[in-house]
Amino acid sequence: MSESLIFRTPSAYDYPLLIKNLLFYPVVDEPDQEIVYRNQRFTYRELRQRIARLANVLTTLGIKKGDTVAVMDWDSHRYLECFFAVPMIGAVLHTINVRLSPEQILYTIDHAEDDLLLINSEFLPILDQIRGRIDTVQGFVLLNDEPTIPESTIEFAGEYESLLSSASTEFSFPDFDENSRATTFYTTGTTGMPKGVYFSHRQLVLHTMGVMGVLGSAAGQGSFNRSDVYMPITPMFHVHAWGLPFVATMLGVKQVYPGRYLPDILLELLEREKVTFSHCVPTILHMLLKHPNSARMDMSGWKLIIGGAAMSKSLCIEAMKHGIDVFTGYGMSETCPILTISHLSPEMLELPDEEQAAIRCKTGRTLPLVDLKIVDEKFNELPRDDKTPGEIIVRAPWLTQGYLKDHKTSERLWDGGYLHTGDVAVRDKQGYVKITDRIKDLIKVAGEWVSSLELEDMIAHHPAVSEVAVIGIPDEKWGERPLALVVVKHDATVTEKELAHHIKEYADTGVINKHVVLLKVKLVDTIDKTSVGKINKVALREKQSQ
Ligand code: AMP
Repeated sequence: MSESLIFRTPSAYDYPLLIKNLLFYPVVDEPDQEIVYRNQRFTYRELRQRIARLANVLTTLGIKKGDTVAVMDWDSHRYLECFFAVPMIGAVLHTINVRLSPEQILYTIDHAEDDLLLINSEFLPILDQIRGRIDTVQGFVLLNDEPTIPESTIEFAGEYESLLSSASTEFSFPDFDENSRATTFYTTGTTGMPKGVYFSHRQLVLHTMGVMGVLGSAAGQGSFNRSDVYMPITPMFHVHAWGLPFVATMLGVKQVYPGRYLPDILLELLEREKVTFSHCVPTILHMLLKHPNSARMDMSGWKLIIGGAAMSKSLCIEAMKHGIDVFTGYGMSETCPILTISHLSPEMLELPDEEQAAIRCKTGRTLPLVDLKIVDEKFNELPRDDKTPGEIIVRAPWLTQGYLKDHKTSERLWDGGYLHTGDVAVRDKQGYVKITDRIKDLIKVAGEWVSSLELEDMIAHHPAVSEVAVIGIPDEKWGERPLALVVVKHDATVTEKELAHHIKEYADTGVINKHVVLLKVKLVDTIDKTSVGKINKVALREKQSQ
């Protein structure tokens, strides 16, 4: 009989794909390389020691395998340390989206069953608002950038730096199953309450390798390699800052963490630290280019991936005029996130700016191992003719296996064994995907989701409203903003301003994302319907764009 195809020598090491191996066995070991947090500097040697110290602190505070450690912080060296230390001890890192409303933050803390919360002093007012109602958190650790420790009624287990300073720099990180959950965070990219997505060690390691493969092999432009200086401008609480901090650490490059995203600080760090590689949503790029300091700056040599929302051609051309090597990436919370990157070949770089911009704004070609299809309603793959639109469905080794504790929505996400993105796209002969529309009924304002259904529901509560439809309209500054088309009851009167104020009250009380204050209201006589009587959002969007 032939030997089994999966026979293993009993003493052979079955190497698990664990996050610790990204740290300990990088492409190059650069112990003196820098990690910068605003005006503070650390080395990679210190990073490793601090990760071991943090692991000791966490275990001393009672955190064990399978527990959940939540973080509320802006982008910092501390966050990077948590990216490694928390999963490396077998716990789950919950990166809390600090831009959610306090009620949504409370919901995610309870839903994820957080055991410990590391919180930046800036967010203590939010914690004060919700703390009596948090069910599971047993301890709090203070992250503080201020010269003094702020007053608070919360009893902290300690302040991060002082806890670390008295902990040992030695920790023996264990091996365990690579399929163990490493991270969790919440997306509002679905309707209803935020939904938890989760990723295992194996998925994060393979995503790191996939991203490194596509960025490292780029021939024309947009490569990320050992000579770069990296600064994220997509928050670390959102899809692991697109997974780039793991890639940067693996490559041993200098990393710069900017804290809260303030345009003058971002521009200052860009110049001072000679940053060469970043990623952000279009709204941030727009904000940086409009800042008075950017006019005098030389931004050439800055490679910048734009994602999270479509980049307009005009924004792309403006960035190119500043010398920025700007190009597109695509993915979603559910996909770890990166699925495609729009790199240009050396031949494409010979094209005039206008033509180049068209390619740079496309959604791009797939990463290695990504099986991405564009299909019709019957799952038939559509031709690569750059004009037949269909839904993007996908398989890759790094997609969330479902929504946390939500089997019904998870089944819908994975209908037919492919993850459904809810994005509509075309693909050209060369394999470049371009998103043209969205099936999901959501609007993306400044990189954050606003649910049109939720907004419709709130507007419909106003006694003068007979019918309402909310759509997203393109906006130069915010990417998109919500527009409510409202039919008023025949016996009632209300103004556009009054309705906008009605919604603002929901935002003020923390019930809904504050971005809804950008809502525009337009009173109309009728709202277009489809043949089956549903609101025809495609027609409404088309009409409003004319
Ligand atoms: P999120 O889960 O918040 O990261 O949002 C993911 C969604 O953002 C995707 O499903 C798309 O609708 C949208 N998106 C992300 N990247 C792009 C892009 N490059 N172009 C257009 N839309 C994008």
